[in-house]
Amino acid sequence: MTSLLIENATGIFSGRPGAAMRISGSIRIRDGVIVDIGALQAEPNERRLDARGCVVYPGLISTHHHLFQSVLKGVRSGINLPLAGWLRSVPYTFWSKIDEEALAVAARIGLTEMLLSGTTTVADHHYLFSDSFRFDPAQVIFEVARSLGIRLVFCRGGATKGRHFDTDEFVPMPVESLDHVLKSIEACAQRFHDTSPGSLSQVVLAPTTPTWSIDPGELKEVVAAARRMKLRLHSHLSESSDYVDFCLSVHGKRPVEWLADHDWLGPDVWFAHLVHLDPNEVRILASTGTGMAHCPQSNCRLGSGVAPADAMARLGAAVSLGVDGAASNESADMISEMHSAWHTHRAIKGADAVTAEEVVHWATAGGARVLGLPQIGTLAPGQQADIAIFNLDQPRHFGPDCGGEWRHHRPGYSETKIRRGPRRRAFGCLNSGERHAQYQTTGASALLVRGHARRSPQGWASAVYAAR
Ligand code: ZN
Repeated sequence: MTSLLIENATGIFSGRPGAAMRISGSIRIRDGVIVDIGALQAEPNERRLDARGCVVYPGLISTHHHLFQSVLKGVRSGINLPLAGWLRSVPYTFWSKIDEEALAVAARIGLTEMLLSGTTTVADHHYLFSDSFRFDPAQVIFEVARSLGIRLVFCRGGATKGRHFDTDEFVPMPVESLDHVLKSIEACAQRFHDTSPGSLSQVVLAPTTPTWSIDPGELKEVVAAARRMKLRLHSHLSESSDYVDFCLSVHGKRPVEWLADHDWLGPDVWFAHLVHLDPNEVRILASTGTGMAHCPQSNCRLGSGVAPADAMARLGAAVSLGVDGAASNESADMISEMHSAWHTHRAIKGADAVTAEEVVHWATAGGARVLGLPQIGTLAPGQQADIAIFNLDQPRHFGPDCGGEWRHHRPGYSETKIRRGPRRRAFGCLNSGERHAQYQTTGASALLVRGHARRSPQGWASAVYAAR
């Protein structure tokens, strides 16, 4: 049995909404599970983590990513284009070059960037499945995730029909028969879908988009298959106004109303983006418990608009945050995403639109709700010990509520090390200018401390940070 006590934290965010967000005390972890929080004394032979000068969060949760895009950042031909042009210039142009090695490298870069931002759960929407590949993308990405100890929700995408703007210039995006998609997902789920409480491996049925990648006659069959297999359903929806224009012109209804006719809503369904919603669609999503993966940085970068995440949240809807693919969000980390979510709504709608605590809730418990993983996203006894610890001992965090030692601080630099731990555990440690947080090997599923990665055992972590 491993036991760890996290003590002396400057602040703790529980992940729960409202006044329950801020808690205090020490956190005891046994065998990867939080067993107690409060005024606790260290027990004999218990490992202790001195979190003085640090703030403790539930491990952050990103509910929408495309890890393969982590090697497609800043493609010049797409850098200033909106969604449709960017799709042509970036993923549609490069998808066929993402071979097994490139996919493994991309997954490692993307997941490392997430870990360094305190993210312990990533939902990866992967939609490149082609007979031209001699490898299983799910296996490649799960292997990388397992080596890093991060929790992966693999959203198996794909299309049964091609997007209309495919032309001879491109190798067409892969298309599969519905029967092949469903059999493949069933096989993937049998290998990787683990529903045990500490599971680090889940599978979701996730066609690329219901508008352009599936025949409308197949929609009900897809959702029925997901429910028969007891898998959640995920897709893109209403990212740009093109979705609304298309659905109104072809189906005579707005996208959410059209999907309601095909059983594609419910607490086991979540959509990325949902930027272009009218008030009735917001009400439908909230009343059915359908989730949102809010991706403000990608939406801003592509000029798509700002999703009404705040309006959804006020109705009690399931709102979470996702970084989306790194090809449309060069800062594909959850700290940047939270910062952007907080700024964007307030800039447009005023300071009452969203609070910092609400954004933290979206990035933690909100993500857990959307993914159907109630054992993560909050810090409380019985929860999985997915914990992120952020060092405040850096100039960007100086302030009277950030540990109170700024007057005596001598600028230095911090190191973050991410290294493999035994079994399915990831660990971080921090070594700050004057103060040394102890190196930890714990029972936590992931325990991270963020700083500037100047070097790392594997080398790649510093490469990721140097690129920023
Ligand atoms: Zn996406």
